[in-house]
Amino acid sequence: MSFRDDTTSMTAQIIDGKLIANALLDKIKSDIELRLSTGKRAPCLAVILVGDDAASAIYVRNKRIACEKVGIQSIAHNPPANISEIELLSLIQTLNLDPTIDGILVQSPLPSQIDENAVLALIDPAKDIDGFHPFNIGRLAVRQPTLRSCTPFGVIKMLQAAGVSLKGLDAVVVGVSNHVGRPMGLELLLAGCTVTSCHRHTKDLASHVRRADLVVAAAGKAGLIQGEWIKPGAIVVDIGINRLASGKITGDVDFETAKQRAAFITPVPGGVGPITVATLMENTLKALEMREQIASHT
Ligand code: NAD
Repeated sequence: MSFRDDTTSMTAQIIDGKLIANALLDKIKSDIELRLSTGKRAPCLAVILVGDDAASAIYVRNKRIACEKVGIQSIAHNPPANISEIELLSLIQTLNLDPTIDGILVQSPLPSQIDENAVLALIDPAKDIDGFHPFNIGRLAVRQPTLRSCTPFGVIKMLQAAGVSLKGLDAVVVGVSNHVGRPMGLELLLAGCTVTSCHRHTKDLASHVRRADLVVAAAGKAGLIQGEWIKPGAIVVDIGINRLASGKITGDVDFETAKQRAAFITPVPGGVGPITVATLMENTLKALEMREQIASHT
């Protein structure tokens, strides 16, 4: 693809995350069916949902539905909101040691009495299907990725499916969280982009976005990225999920104005969300296959 240097109005190609995710889910389903036909077992994902946060419950339900769709067994653990950190760590240790569990997912946010970093660091990196463990982030940083964070890796797969060539692009990532923005920057670096990371202390966000060939928004602030900031012909990926007072779900980018300037844009909802869940399924299968491979060598 090439970049336009004029400011004539255009309408972006909308990248359909659901379509791309469904194709990936179909592939995972057939890979699992193939395993079963050769006498191997299905992957198994343990999902820990602490307490009864409504939004978290929806995310967990979507993941369970995806598991059912592809043939991954899912086991739910729903400890109460007042669970102690020691009790949660002990549950994770039990799951780490259980050879029938391939992936361990701890839905965030966790209650305030629990140190999320301590919890994530205890998960066996070989079962860390969210790709949040410092070991797996480190593998990505040194260009030897294993289990990769679902949202950033999903974004890369989405762009590849849309036919976007990433090499040499000036990419701006807005947001530097451990789970999203930072691994997103590492993924884009690995893909050959020149990466700028922006965050809440960035002085002039607009100036960075204006010169970007690729903008990835992951700030969690509705309307933060104005459409007129988008360079004509740029690619816009909106990871943000924001619930407005009206109940409407929206991203971080002013979609209607941005789509007049971008060449490609992802919608919210229906963009990055579905591909994140599909990547989680892919990681769960991969975690099982990697452990099988190690076991076959010992
Ligand atoms: P976070 O709150 O941990 O991090 C937000 C980041 O944005 C921080 O690094 C902060 O410095 C930056 N930021 C905040 N305000 C800013 C501003 N005004 N200018 C520039 N940078 C600013 O959030 P997170 O966990 O990284 O999630 C980010 C968003 O992505 C949220 O809306 C979340 O719901 C969404 N999300 C979506 C998916 C998905 O599958 N689509 C997955 C994970 C997270």
